[in-house]
Amino acid sequence: MATIAVLPGDGIGPEVTREAVKVLRATAEKFHLALTFEEAPVGGTAYEAIGTPLPDHTLAVCQRADAILFGAVGGPHWDTLPRNIRPEQGILALRKALDLYANLRPARLFPALVDASTLKREVIEGVDILVVRELTGGLYFGQPKGIQTGPEGERGVDTLVYTRPEIERIAKVAFDAANRRRKHLTSVDKANVLASSELWRRIVTEVGAGFPEVRLDHMYVDNASMQLLRHPTGFDVLVAENTFGDILSDEAAMLTGSIGLLPSASLGAGVGLYEPIHGSAPDIAGQDAANPIAAILSAAMLLEYSLGAALAAAAIESAVSRALDQGYRTPDIQQPGTRRVGTREMGDRITEAVLAGGEA
Ligand code: NAD
Repeated sequence: MATIAVLPGDGIGPEVTREAVKVLRATAEKFHLALTFEEAPVGGTAYEAIGTPLPDHTLAVCQRADAILFGAVGGPHWDTLPRNIRPEQGILALRKALDLYANLRPARLFPALVDASTLKREVIEGVDILVVRELTGGLYFGQPKGIQTGPEGERGVDTLVYTRPEIERIAKVAFDAANRRRKHLTSVDKANVLASSELWRRIVTEVGAGFPEVRLDHMYVDNASMQLLRHPTGFDVLVAENTFGDILSDEAAMLTGSIGLLPSASLGAGVGLYEPIHGSAPDIAGQDAANPIAAILSAAMLLEYSLGAALAAAAIESAVSRALDQGYRTPDIQQPGTRRVGTREMGDRITEAVLAGGEA
């Protein structure tokens, strides 16, 4: 029996999470997986009820779960609160408490949406990339950090530092992921200029010796950003430190169209957290207009990475593909000749497609 902590959060978070849970329940039934769900408040909703964006009870629910399904947090209503109790602290504190150091962001093009991309069909057809971003080290956290005033005036300082264990553990996650996919890993760095990158490249190569079946390439980050646009189908798994990964994962995401389609996983030594990459979208909250696909694909990642149920995960991905092939579209991805549906109906169509899919 696996327990899934469900943290819907704010704005469209509850709307899309509800659909993801619906699809998970149907998938569990079809694949004979025993799942239980435990819901807990987070973000602005938790602040209103309990006075803090990450209540102790919510953290405890997450710590004893096998995986966490997260919606989104935040909204204009809470933007004037002090930073330490803003809804966004709910997710930041959770990532920190669970030491979620690896962020996995797939960017896969659904054939039915090939014309929704800003790139030409022949460039993006077949794109299926997984970006593995280091999430807890590098420039964003390195010390010293800050703005100081010295004899020459003000000075802004950030420190790009990586230790051997930090590089080893993220490299292992990336090789493991590549091993499960098309067995090609591209490690991105700036080893011609940065000492941290020189160490990164050396250690990634060392870790690679333990994965002889995975083909490893190294690429400078400036070249990687160009190749993602020029020849994106040349990538399978791409691994990068925090800052490079932040930028490249957004670039890769945009190859495939709407923000409403993109899932993510954050992994550490213990429980993993799965969430759509979008925020709480207050502009469309409560209108049954949000695209639930990013949340539903996050649920598929949960099955694959935390529960080892790869077939069930693939069934959800196929079901999403099938619903899109049948022409169902939420407003954010609507095109002429397709059928507009709301959040709930999109969830229903995908659920039906899971249940109607090939035998488990
Ligand atoms: P956003 O991702 O919420 O929205 C950006 C745009 O994309 C909006 O126009 C929105 O309508 C649209 N959009 C987002 N998700 C969609 C979906 N599933 N279907 C259809 N359209 C969708 O980003 P934002 O507007 O910058 O931020 C809104 C709030 O969300 C802020 O309070 C921000 O801090 C918070 N936020 C939270 C997270 C998180 O919970 N991890 C991430 C990003 C932003």
